[in-house]
Amino acid sequence: MPDSPSFTRLIAPLTQSTVAGMCDAMQAAAYGGADAVEVRLDFLPSAERSPERLSALFSDSPLERIATCRSKAEGGQCDLPAPERAALLALCVRLGCDWVDFEWADLAEAEPLLRVIEEANQSGRRVGLIASTHDFQGRPADLAETLTAMDQSPAAVCKAAFQAVGPEDACTAWDLVRANSKPTIALAMGPAGVASRILARKFGAFGTFAALSADACSAPGQPTLAEMAELYCWADQSPRTELYGVVGCPVGHSMSPAVHNAAFRAVHYDATYVPFHVEPGREAFDRFLDAFLQRPWAQLRGLSVTIPHKENAMARVGEGNVDALSRAIGAINTVGINERGVLRGTNTDYAGAIGAIVEALDCEPIDLAGRSAAVLGAGGAARAIVAGLAEFGADTTIYNRTVSRAEALAERFDRFGMGKGRVRAVGLEGLDRLRADIIINCTPIGMHPDADGSPLPQSLALEPQVTVFDTIYNPLETRMLRHARRCGCRTVSGLEMFVKQAAAQFEFWLGVVAPHAVMRQVVLKNLG
Ligand code: NAP
Repeated sequence: MPDSPSFTRLIAPLTQSTVAGMCDAMQAAAYGGADAVEVRLDFLPSAERSPERLSALFSDSPLERIATCRSKAEGGQCDLPAPERAALLALCVRLGCDWVDFEWADLAEAEPLLRVIEEANQSGRRVGLIASTHDFQGRPADLAETLTAMDQSPAAVCKAAFQAVGPEDACTAWDLVRANSKPTIALAMGPAGVASRILARKFGAFGTFAALSADACSAPGQPTLAEMAELYCWADQSPRTELYGVVGCPVGHSMSPAVHNAAFRAVHYDATYVPFHVEPGREAFDRFLDAFLQRPWAQLRGLSVTIPHKENAMARVGEGNVDALSRAIGAINTVGINERGVLRGTNTDYAGAIGAIVEALDCEPIDLAGRSAAVLGAGGAARAIVAGLAEFGADTTIYNRTVSRAEALAERFDRFGMGKGRVRAVGLEGLDRLRADIIINCTPIGMHPDADGSPLPQSLALEPQVTVFDTIYNPLETRMLRHARRCGCRTVSGLEMFVKQAAAQFEFWLGVVAPHAVMRQVVLKNLG
């Protein structure tokens, strides 16, 4: 088998339908930072599987080559019986591949393949067998026993891939890697399991799979080579790397991994930030967090929390472990975790929003006292912003479609905080007569892809001294902001709030000044 089974390989699956296509993809994989390719023979038609054609794949290459002919029963494309699949892999060994991956369930039918591997090794070559098992429905109850049996078999490497229910399944995957004496690949598939793929090097796996492009993924949840290199800083990952992430549902399109990973890199902090897809509900949130807290070696040090888990996070962290304003808001978007597993939380949404407003006004938060603010919407974002405005003494009017929701919010924060600002509630019909120093949109009206909408009536004339803030950041200039700019008003986009709340999270976790400019640049790049 190849010389260093213990380093963690970045493996690019080749799923083209011709050998020539696979050869091109192999070059692209080497260029993209892969250490190995998985030649998926099951994607090749039988005419492409002749020794003459296949030899091109196993001639000299800087990359290790893993030959696989995945059976349909285990999620592949091949319906040949096990002995014929084994014979194809034996051919690949003779042609020069470094590893063959064969289904554990069919290993009893692969005696001739094992002999060919042995002969190759006796002749001075180094070829290894990867025994693998796949379950696209869930985690088999006897998975640990299967991995132990693989560990004691002739296989040089053990591999298990199973469908994840929650990110806690990534912990199970790492348990399997840590328990086995042989190099092991354990992957939790699907959106909930992506951490198991991204963090394979931290936990000492034999390898992890990364596709050449998003449309070339060979299994659910697989990242691309570019994401591994640029977004998750694969090259810098080590067993000491600390773990951070964003908890939400959905969470796949969150910009937070790009923003925080770039920030960690900018200050040379050894950490990786990943998405944790956690289904709605307190139970799912607790199951996820408990799994990580029970494994201190995972070094989970911080979480961003987004919809629908902000209240769950607050309840879990406990009122005694959050600041007074976050307690009043009743929801947190940031959790810090120390080495002993002690949790603390805060809500940086209000700090981000108030920071964006005072920057635009070129004043301090206490200078908001006595200014009039109109908040459109009464949901989660409005709640944090109203709390901040009331804290610093602004006189706030909430305009919301569901008036009772606005009234409840007003009641909670009227004459609250150090400035004791007034807060009152009005229905949307009051917008026609709206007069305020600061107008803030906290509804999704005007957000991509429905960018034609505006929460303000078309006929509303705005005085130029008004500051208009839209919490939406996609598009950067919403229809409401365009209208305000044309009226000569100062405008603030949701980008400023997003960057400032992320920077405040970073500072809450690390206690150092966040690289604001880098974080802002990443958001702008992601928004195209
Ligand atoms: P949310 O909790 O769902 O609240 C949405 C609010 O908008 C509710 O008050 C809702 O009124 C109102 N609304 C929704 N659709 C409406 C419509 N068609 N007409 C009138 N009112 C409507 O959402 P959220 O978490 O507060 O988010 C709201 C906005 O803030 C989003 O656009 C989000 O992008 C933005 N945001 C930005 C940042 C940032 O960092 N820049 C952070 C968080 C949120 P009802 O009460 O009547 O349902």
